[in-house]
Amino acid sequence: MVIMGEDAQRVKDKDAQEYNISAARAVAESVRSTLGPKGMDKMLVDSMGSVTITNDGVTILQEMDIDNPTAEMIVEVAETQEDEAGDGTTTAVAIAGELLKNAEELLDQDIHPTAIIKGFNMAAEQAREEVDDIAERVDPTDEDLLRKVAETSMTGKSSELDKDLLAQLVVDAVQAVTVEAEDGSHVVDLEFVEVETQTGSSASESELLNGAVIDKDPVNDDMPVEFDEADVLLLNDPIEVEETDADTQVNIDSPDQLQQFLDSEEKQLRQKVDQIVATGADVVFCQKGIDDLAQYLLAKEGILAVRRTKKSDMGFLQEILGAEIVSDLDAATDAHLGSGSITRDAEAGLFYVEGDNAHGVTILLRGSTEHVVDELERGIQDALDVVSTTAADGRVLAGGGAIEVELASRLRDYADSVSGREQLAVEAFADAVEVVPRVLASNAGLDSIDTLVDLRAAHEAGDTRAGLNVFTGDVVDTLDAGVVEPAHSKEQALSSASEAANLVLKIDDIIAAGDLSTSGDEDEGAGGAGGMGGMGGMGGAM
Ligand code: ADP
Ligand code: MG
Repeated sequence: MVIMGEDAQRVKDKDAQEYNISAARAVAESVRSTLGPKGMDKMLVDSMGSVTITNDGVTILQEMDIDNPTAEMIVEVAETQEDEAGDGTTTAVAIAGELLKNAEELLDQDIHPTAIIKGFNMAAEQAREEVDDIAERVDPTDEDLLRKVAETSMTGKSSELDKDLLAQLVVDAVQAVTVEAEDGSHVVDLEFVEVETQTGSSASESELLNGAVIDKDPVNDDMPVEFDEADVLLLNDPIEVEETDADTQVNIDSPDQLQQFLDSEEKQLRQKVDQIVATGADVVFCQKGIDDLAQYLLAKEGILAVRRTKKSDMGFLQEILGAEIVSDLDAATDAHLGSGSITRDAEAGLFYVEGDNAHGVTILLRGSTEHVVDELERGIQDALDVVSTTAADGRVLAGGGAIEVELASRLRDYADSVSGREQLAVEAFADAVEVVPRVLASNAGLDSIDTLVDLRAAHEAGDTRAGLNVFTGDVVDTLDAGVVEPAHSKEQALSSASEAANLVLKIDDIIAAGDLSTSGDEDEGAGGAGGMGGMGGMGGAM
């Protein structure tokens, strides 16, 4: 009986595991070289030829256009980490890859995947508890500390030179939108921090604005562009002639009729402009289009109008100005208006909108070229996430591999209490976590084994915050040295890495409707990073 199509491929048991593990590991290894302040960048060229230069784990994996299903699971680790923690994507992926590498060795010793999975689960659970135990509780309003957290997450993201300034901007931005809840906890409204980028000047000219930056021009050059105190209408309704039904045709047989038709259109537009005037608005940000005639009429009324304002900007303006977005001009009244000041940078083509009361800030990020600002922005986004996590959560860890070495040592102690083959899996988990200090060292051109030996010795001697100074190669108290990471991000990295590894290990049968390898030159599909179609050879190279 034939149950599978002719092109279908099936890989089972050990072959399936080997195939999957090598695919997942190849992806993990492709981002390892970017880890840490001394990590290298990658240049990604998409099918349209556009170039991204980055050090950001999740960006690399997303741009790599991976079409191998197992490898995609590793990409998901990075994406989950990005969503949940905002930083630590390379770490999560590197740990996942190392867990699989160590699992492969256990499989070779004929240890059943079920035992490995169970051991990994036990270790991950224990690891989260240990992280919480190791974490230092800090004052979440401690600016100095928050700045260090920001700097640690930005290192390596081409922000090196202006790290001080950028870290300060991030901290100021987060503090501007932090409110103390009734129970004394801190809540950070990160959605009210915008990041705008601008090329042409240096990163050191970046600044924090107490409001929004709208990258738009007025629809008419005769409009006023500066207001100390403007009443602003946010309109999500076109200021255009309403389309008659799509199917109806207007038949015009005489010049008179044409004139009539045009007159009625003009009347409609005049009426719309009158409605805006009646609300008392000085400024209109319209999310939709504005007809030419309406533009002219608005200018004559001395009203500043901007069309096709981005939806995200509209939401932000609403918060800053205390306005309400109106989706039907007929219903607009002065009650919907918000107020604030407007200034214009004509050269850059930007409006700065500052509100009176509601919070909302914009980091205006400047850099020499598109590639530079893009990478700076990724660094700033990571920093915003970790700083706000820390401001809300107050738990931090010593970075530079310190937390990983301490964690591994505690997990090895814990392994002693675990019986059966699971013990070996817990030990394998402990070894896998140490991939972080090893890779930090090798990316810095240091000997990873020597470094690990030194670090372990320091931790044995009771120095729980001993980590690597990647610039000198010395073992230092990294928390004192200002290399500080939020505990939450590490907990998340450990969880998502172990979940992904377990997901891969559980598979013992791959049934593919088509060829498993899109590169097409594989003999049987099992094993080897060669089965990673669409990776453009990046995986195997590292
Ligand atoms: P990820 O995507 O995992 O955040 P990064 O490239 O940002 O990867 O590197 C993060 C790692 O670099 C963390 O382990 C962090 O402790 C370490 N790190 C950051 N700054 C320093 C520093 N100045 N010295 C040593 N290690 C650092
Ligand atoms: Mg990072």
